Amino acid sequence: MPLTFVNKRVMATEIAAGVYCIDGGGGNFYLCVEDEGLTLIDTGMPGRAELVWDLIAQIGRQRTDLTRILVTHADMDHAGSLAVVQAATGAAVFAGAATASLLRQGRSPSHMPFPVQWVIDRFIRYGAVSAATITQFADGDVLPILGGLQVLATPGHTLDHFSFYSVAYGVLFAGDALNTRNGRLQSTPPRITADPDAARHSAIRLLELAPAVIACGHGTPFTHHSADDITTLFNELRQ
Ligand SMILES: [Zn+2]
Repeated sequence: MPLTFVNKRVMATEIAAGVYCIDGGGGNFYLCVEDEGLTLIDTGMPGRAELVWDLIAQIGRQRTDLTRILVTHADMDHAGSLAVVQAATGAAVFAGAATASLLRQGRSPSHMPFPVQWVIDRFIRYGAVSAATITQFADGDVLPILGGLQVLATPGHTLDHFSFYSVAYGVLFAGDALNTRNGRLQSTPPRITADPDAARHSAIRLLELAPAVIACGHGTPFTHHSADDITTLFNELRQ
């Protein structure tokens, strides 16, 4: 049985050995726990650092064990707590090239309908990180996490969006390229998608991996799905 920790501030579920989903309220992010160090995948909205500290304390590790933060894309519900967590841990940040540029400015990518995007561009900022903390990755890179974590370019929701897949663990971190809102596997909603055709191809690419665990930015992670859950969406997208 996966461990579930619940207290007044944090709810985290172990979705694979040493892989925790943190329910940040408004979005999920993930902590990978290994002897040699901890890796955070996305950071939730601003103000979510406490959730990370609580989970790290509950598993008996130190904040300074957090050595890497991977960012799927620069939306505020994924990068909002990045600056605070990075500053407290000294962790290295990994992101795509365009995302890295946005993270240095605390700005969000363009993919929302007008006038939401107009408001975001003018008024919404989250904590920025310095260029020196960021290492850029690219499609095809393999990071030394979870037995070799594949970096997959999955543009569409935003133009610079990445997903991560561990073959050894069968875990896919899909960011917003897929979601499991309302218990249903779906691709990114068209109204918040920068490039629908790219999004379709990206989702197909991820489904072809037939991941055992599908960990998205939104919705409860899929750990006990059937092949039908994957083929239903696959066939929908292939039409
Ligand atoms: Zn997003």
